[in-house]
Amino acid sequence: MNRNPQKPGLGTGVSPHRITPVYRPQQVEKQAPCQAACPNCGDIRQWIGTVAQRNKTGLSREEALARAWRIIVDVNPFPSCLGRICPHPCEQDCNRSGLDEPLAINAMERFLGDYAIEQGLPLEHMDDAVREEWIGVVGAGPSGLSFAYQMARRGYRVTVYEEKNRAGGMLRYGVPDYRLPQPVLDAEIERILALGVELELGVVIGRDITLENLRKRHAAIYLGMGAQMGRAMGIPGEAGPGVWTGTDYLAAVNSGATVPLGPRVIVVGGGNTAIDAARTARRTGARVTILYRRSREEMPAISAEVDDALEEGVELIVLAAPVRVERAEDGMITGVTACRMKLADADPSGRRRPLPVEGSEFTAEADALIAAVSQSPAIDGFDALDHEGPWLHVHDGGLGKNLFAGGDVLGLGIAGNAIVQGRRAAERLHAHLRGDNHAEAQEQDQPQIGAERLKFESRPPGPATKTPRLPVQARLSADLPEVAATISENAFLAEVERCYSCGSCMGCEQCSMFCTPGCFTRLEEVGPGMYFTLALDNCEECGKCVEVCPCGFLDVH
Ligand SMILES: Cc1cc2nc3c(=O)[nH]c(=O)nc-3n(C[C@H](O)[C@H](O)[C@H](O)COP(=O)(O)OP(=O)(O)OC[C@H]3O[C@@H](n4cnc5c(N)ncnc54)[C@H](O)[C@@H]3O)c2cc1C
Ligand code: SF4
Ligand code: SF4
Ligand code: SF4
Repeated sequence: MNRNPQKPGLGTGVSPHRITPVYRPQQVEKQAPCQAACPNCGDIRQWIGTVAQRNKTGLSREEALARAWRIIVDVNPFPSCLGRICPHPCEQDCNRSGLDEPLAINAMERFLGDYAIEQGLPLEHMDDAVREEWIGVVGAGPSGLSFAYQMARRGYRVTVYEEKNRAGGMLRYGVPDYRLPQPVLDAEIERILALGVELELGVVIGRDITLENLRKRHAAIYLGMGAQMGRAMGIPGEAGPGVWTGTDYLAAVNSGATVPLGPRVIVVGGGNTAIDAARTARRTGARVTILYRRSREEMPAISAEVDDALEEGVELIVLAAPVRVERAEDGMITGVTACRMKLADADPSGRRRPLPVEGSEFTAEADALIAAVSQSPAIDGFDALDHEGPWLHVHDGGLGKNLFAGGDVLGLGIAGNAIVQGRRAAERLHAHLRGDNHAEAQEQDQPQIGAERLKFESRPPGPATKTPRLPVQARLSADLPEVAATISENAFLAEVERCYSCGSCMGCEQCSMFCTPGCFTRLEEVGPGMYFTLALDNCEECGKCVEVCPCGFLDVH
């Protein structure tokens, strides 16, 4: 697909009398695998290339950094947050792994996000349009705010209703400060509000204002309520002092409360909430043990976070599930009795089913138990909407006329998914309100390029930049200091040079240097992906240009 209309495709100047030969070059942009794996980060290759190719395109360092950040925030207004907490599937698929290590995309995204905060770069409206429709959003989590941002920058008046007294959703009340400091979240939220988005705090939709009334007030509504309710384990002794759900415990700590847990804490679960609760409890000086009913491989938590928890002294007992909370006569918790599990065949989720091993019960002493087994949305007041169990059920993001939903209220996910769903709903709604029902945003449909098409020798080998991290002892403080630091500007500038610009022209000029008849003509205005036009009248069909192109942009026709 020729993505850029300014960029010439094949055939410029081809004589109609020629028989199609074997070695004629063709400019074919392909999808980079980093991009295909990221739900939500703009064109990764493009923002890296904008900085890496700044000398070729005549941008100063500052201009290139700002432009790269703008490419990201076009689709994701939270690069500083995601640069800290995204499990970065983009890196897993980076072609550079075929040589040494993938690019440190997540750390680079964080650098750009923090750079923009430091420089005070504002988000911008897309144009001068001022629309008459007033849009309502339920929930100021990443999904609702992403939707609000996309509508506000298109000129709509937007009001976000949030039940808590601060915005941010689980990025505020779930993810602990040692991974995502609240000032970083504040800065990215304030920038969205500065676009004119109104925020009404302390309002519970479904209770204080019915959904019906809200629909009368607004031209369209987006539901981004997330999944706020920690699920109970359903075992004897669970009700009573000393037992928390993971979300309640983290929300209390993140709100600044001191939660008295005692010296021995058991955490139940294997997801991000369990790991965050365990690591936060560990920072109070407690001895913390996680019980998880499957094996380590099946844990849904981000694997590096599990490694960090273990490094910080959290004990992990896998293949164990609680069966009873033990309490003293005064009702205080004394321990948790659990039984060993074995794994049977895979369940519908693809993970192997845990089954109890008869006669395997054991009791671990405990002063507190944090149950982080799962979460679900509170849909009181939204019962009339289509739902499957506790989850809202949407078709193409919609729930009915001008009613949209996205994020964790549809099923537990990661922040990147919540943000992308908010954006897509906004794009759909905008197209619909403007009567343009064919203008659905097209996701890239180009073929993906694999590592075998790259000329690895065109870049010096070398490992990825490493994120500086606090030593373990310095992390274990109740002040929750941030564990990972932002990479330096020099490290960022070095890292962009490692990118192969897979499947898109990077302007290296190899093709034009090797082409004796001069088929390649440099464009006056150049940028990542567009440097040369190609005229084949004099092509000698030597195939040299295709052979030397390091990024696989040129194909043989
Ligand atoms: C402890 C924990 C750790 C996590 N770690 C990671 C991680 O490392 N990486 C990652 O990518 N993701 C992580 N996640 C997941 C991520 O936080 C969520 O996927 C994301 O926040 C979902 O966004 P959302 O906007 O859909 O919902 P939420 O973030 O839950 O926001 C929903 C908002 O709606 C408000 N609300 C709810 N009901 C109403 C109502 N009736 N009226 C008004 N307001 C309402 C809520 O108060 C909340 O502010 C983690 C989640 C948790 C809980
Ligand atoms: S949002 Fe996640 S997947 Fe996308 S570029 Fe950033 S780290 Fe990678
Ligand atoms: S080398 Fe660059 S373009 Fe290629 S997959 Fe990695 S980050 Fe993406
Ligand atoms: S050889 Fe270099 S300049 Fe030529 S098409 Fe490939 S990347 Fe672009």
